[in-house]
Amino acid sequence: MNSSVLLTYFENRTREMLSFAKSLVEHESPSTDKAAVDRFGSFLADVYRELGAAVEVFSGGQQGDNLKVTFGDGEDQALILCHMDTVWPVGEVARRPFRVEGDKAYGPGIYDMKAGFLYTVEVIKAFKHFGVSPKKRIVIICNSDEEIGSPSSRLLIENEARKSKYVLVLEPSAPGGALKTARKGQGTFELKVKGISAHSGSDPERGVSAIEELARHILTLHGLTNYETGTTVNVGVISGGTRSNVVAAEASAKIDVRVPDNDSMKTVESVILGLKPTRPGITLEVTGGMTRPPMVRTEKTAELYSRAKILARELGFDLPEASTGAGSDGNFTANLGVPTLDGLGAVGDGSHAVHEHILVSTLPQRIGLLFRILQEF
Ligand SMILES: [Zn+2]
Repeated sequence: MNSSVLLTYFENRTREMLSFAKSLVEHESPSTDKAAVDRFGSFLADVYRELGAAVEVFSGGQQGDNLKVTFGDGEDQALILCHMDTVWPVGEVARRPFRVEGDKAYGPGIYDMKAGFLYTVEVIKAFKHFGVSPKKRIVIICNSDEEIGSPSSRLLIENEARKSKYVLVLEPSAPGGALKTARKGQGTFELKVKGISAHSGSDPERGVSAIEELARHILTLHGLTNYETGTTVNVGVISGGTRSNVVAAEASAKIDVRVPDNDSMKTVESVILGLKPTRPGITLEVTGGMTRPPMVRTEKTAELYSRAKILARELGFDLPEASTGAGSDGNFTANLGVPTLDGLGAVGDGSHAVHEHILVSTLPQRIGLLFRILQEF
């Protein structure tokens, strides 16, 4: 199909796209509010069904339900990931309503990543409009809990990824519209230290300070950070003790871990899980673990990326690539060895921030790219 015909088609739909973007934003869907996420899910299910897609609903347990949307009937499968949940509480839209100023469309969750639903809906409409079929059967997983680590949707995502030739993740792009071909793995741990309390004036020697012990381990943990390799360990929250004149019996730390590859992941994990008390009278308890494996830039992913770059050029724009320390559901699929292109969603700025927006003028090109990938790959 001629690129300019495709771009003109999407350009002419901009007004309609923005009105759909508004309803996406207005269906608020914080990860921790099952009822709200489910309302958004059933809104989306209706939209996809009206377009002729099949929608299956999978229980999310305590989280919102997850949707599997299937469009087309090719033998091979292409998987698209798009999370429904946002970090914004219900009521945020009343404070910061959807609005368009110049080229920027603002609204809670629009960039991360409600625009992704706009993309998929527009692409399906375009396939119908032009009377062409995607090369592969398209499966879209709309999951309810990405922002909290995807506890209820991980298995569904991994099962569908195993059946797919490749995975497209409609998370926001990196600066400059770049795709994300590598993401660090991430984990969260908690270290709890128990010591022995004592009066700090009359008999301090009978106490064993949990705070002192914790301080030693914090230095070990931060010592694992290596900016050259990309491993970082951050103790982001500490607590402990009761009063200044009491030797602290308890202290604890919350730890965030980011790793560039599987080897670094194993190294860091074994250090954290292997922490030992440095003095008698102390006990340590470590909980938590790695929540997302690293998304390593494999050869197959690199190949997929360079093919996408060619399609982008045909549509008149450059498609850079980037890596990031933040994880997504793309980490799960890439770790299974399925080629994964992430950051194919909105161009804009301000994930998880009040200036969150997408750039309206980029919609035709980016949606056009998604269309062309699904038509060709
Ligand atoms: Zn996201």
